[in-house]
This record gives sequence, C-alpha cells and structure tokens, in this order.
Amino acid sequence: MTDKYCVIGNPIAHSKSPDIHPVYARQTGQDLVYERCLAPLDGFAATVQRLVAEGYRGANVTLPFKIEAAGVCTRLEERARAAGAVNTLSFDRGEIVGDNTDGPGLVADITRNAGREIRGKRVLLLGAGGAARGALLPIIQQEPCEIVIANRTVATADALARDFGRHGVPIRASGFAEVDGGFDIVINATSGSLAGELPPVPAAVFGPGSLALDMMYGSQPTVFMEFAARHGAVVRDGLGMLVEQAAEAFAIWRGERPDTAEVFGMLRP
Ligand code: NDP
Repeated sequence: MTDKYCVIGNPIAHSKSPDIHPVYARQTGQDLVYERCLAPLDGFAATVQRLVAEGYRGANVTLPFKIEAAGVCTRLEERARAAGAVNTLSFDRGEIVGDNTDGPGLVADITRNAGREIRGKRVLLLGAGGAARGALLPIIQQEPCEIVIANRTVATADALARDFGRHGVPIRASGFAEVDGGFDIVINATSGSLAGELPPVPAAVFGPGSLALDMMYGSQPTVFMEFAARHGAVVRDGLGMLVEQAAEAFAIWRGERPDTAEVFGMLRP
C-alpha cells in the first residue's frame, strides 16, 4: 500500500512541496505519493475529514489555512502551540496531530546550510506576523544572547515579546527606525518583500559578516537582500527554509530526515 500525503492550500498550484517530497521519498526508499489539494476557502475542516476518510497519512498546510489548521487537531505539538499555527498534520489512528516545521526549517537553514551558530548571538527579527511567531520558539531554543523583534505595528511586536519572554532569552520589541546596534543575524519575516518594500531599519543593524535572511524567495534577490548586501551582510532568501521545513515534516511522518542538498540544487540549479 502506497502511503498518501498532500499539501492543502488555496491557491495551491504554485506550491513546490509536490516537487520536494518525491525526491525525499526516493532518497530514503519510502513508498509514498504526495499531491496538491485545493480546499475551498470555507471548507478546510471538511477537506481534512475527507483526507482522513480516504486513508491519507498526513498533509502539509499552507496559506491561508495555517491558523485554522490548529483548530482541527486533536493534539498539538509544543512548537505548533507556541506558533499558534500548524503546517504539518499527521493522521494517526483516529488522532489528527498538528506540528509546525517552519521555525525548525529556518533554524536548520541558518545552522546547517549557512553554517551560522545562533547560540550567544544577537538576533533581529523583522515582522511579527505568523511566520515570525512560528520562528520564535525554535530560535529561542538555540539560546541567542538577545532577540529584538521590530515591526511596523509595534504593539504586535510587544505582544510577541511578552508571549515569548519567559523562556530565559531577553526579548525586546521595537519600531523599525528605533532599532539600535549591530546584529549577527537579521531575519526579514515581514511580507514587505512581496511588494518590493524594505522594512526601514538603520543600515547599522548590518555589520561585516552579519547574516541577513529574507523568508521570501524568488528568482531575484529581494530589496531587503540588496540593501543588506550593500551594507556588508551575507544574504540568503527563504528557499533553504522551505526545503528544510519540508525535510522536518518528512522526518515527522517517516522517521528519517532526508538530505536536503539535492532538492536545493534542483530548485536552484
Ligand atoms: P503575516 O501576514 O502573518 O505578517 C506580515 C508581517 O509583515 C506583519 O508583521 C506586518 O506588519 C509586516 N508587513 C506587511 N507589509 C509590510 C510592509 N510593507 N513593510 C513592513 N512590514 C510589513 O505574514 P506571514 O508572517 O505569514 O509571512 C511573512 C513572510 O514570510 C511572507 O513573505 C511569506 O512568504 C514568508 N514565509 C516564508 C516561508 C518559507 O518557507 N520560506 C514560510 C512562511 C512564510 P504589521 O503587523 O504592521 O501589519
């Protein structure tokens, strides 16, 4: 019996996950299929129930359903609870287990692919939406010396700093223009790059050798990557995060973490 998985979203045609998981399955010798699943905007829960009834073993969840997905789970892993969002569902003997691999994927990309330690480093997180929230606990678990969350709406950054402030890592909230000092790692988790907009942080946040990572990815560098590179940072986009979050999901489902280099090369030859 071939095990069935899919990615649920709306729209879904653009998703790269159906290109990624078959490579991981071949690498690890696992027998599975992975499909795209378009759910109606008002029909996410019904879609999940249908997949369970049809014997699917799990699903990834993408826009706009990641928050709603947390509500259909019978059990949430800690990082999904902290993120308030789910991107990986496992259907297991009547249970629907929700996890979130976006943050672990980001951390894996920074530590494995970019070869940067987060432990003891100053981290600047730009944005305070779903992607920033999902990234926070996995970053905190790496024990940076400080995290600053800067956002256009400072109250949202404040709320995040409060929610995640009890884990032993100092976290401060800020507006973009008020961020002071240099940072070892700067992560753009705003959706500004989609519209070619730069979060207006001082150039001094980047120093020689800072890592600047934009969660967005595309065929061209984002305005944030161009700005950071002009000010001495080493830059990355979000493709590595995408590839790594898929590997984390695959490991949850199949108990084996695939090698991501082949997929990285395939998506960015
Ligand atoms: P949300 O809509 O939840 O949050 C958007 C955030 O961006 C908010 O903090 C918002 O600020 C801020 N923002 C929006 N527009 C601007 C702007 N013009 N200037 C400055 N700040 C702005 O989005 P997500 O958190 O879900 O996604 C954020 C980004 O991360 C997207 O680009 C998405 O594609 C990417 N992503 C990448 C993944 C990957 O695997 N590579 C995985 C998940 C997300 P405010 O609070 O003031 O509105």
